[in-house]
Amino acid sequence: MTRRQCTGEYKIKPIKKKVRELLGYPYPARIPKGVFVEQWVGISTDEFHRAKDADVKYMRNRHPLIDMGWSRSDCVRYLTSLGLADTPKSSCLGCPFHGNAQWRHIRDNSPEEWQDVVEFDAAIRMGNARANATGNRLLGEAFLHRSRVPLSEAPIDHVTAAEWAAMQQELTDTGPDLEELEQGVIDGCSPWACRGEVEPVQDDFGLAS
Ligand code: SF4
Repeated sequence: MTRRQCTGEYKIKPIKKKVRELLGYPYPARIPKGVFVEQWVGISTDEFHRAKDADVKYMRNRHPLIDMGWSRSDCVRYLTSLGLADTPKSSCLGCPFHGNAQWRHIRDNSPEEWQDVVEFDAAIRMGNARANATGNRLLGEAFLHRSRVPLSEAPIDHVTAAEWAAMQQELTDTGPDLEELEQGVIDGCSPWACRGEVEPVQDDFGLAS
């Protein structure tokens, strides 16, 4: 896994930009002490370790599901009562943490989105354009699928011998297991509780004010 900036670049930065705008202090204006938004983040009790404070003083995170004592199954029960039983965990379409089941789901149910992720996968092969332009070239090639072959050819219908071998090698505390290969990372993704480890965000919109 290479350095990943998706959550920071595509979620946290735009949210902070919007929050500053709503507060009336667009970057680089200094936000007065005591001026903040309250932001509700949907972390359930079984993933309370993902509940974190915001990293700026002008945003305060609240976790209403934890306040109400709701677990993931309480949420599913509630969604089911509203006729929304099939609500999937939240994540980006082209997330490198998807397991084979999620890739198959996109391929088999949404041809346009499949085309989109296949094209995205091809587009990242040489790494980050900006990093390449500034001399930090990716050594090697980037792929969305763990097998490190183009998504359109990746073995998403079965586990290959090579994947088995790699998995045996990687089976450490942090290594993937068969379940993860199939189902992907168990958690969904939110700006404040990313599926993988969040890179510290170098913030153009005021890290601390
Ligand atoms: S779901 Fe989260 S980890 Fe995956 S690509 Fe999106 S922001 Fe990144």
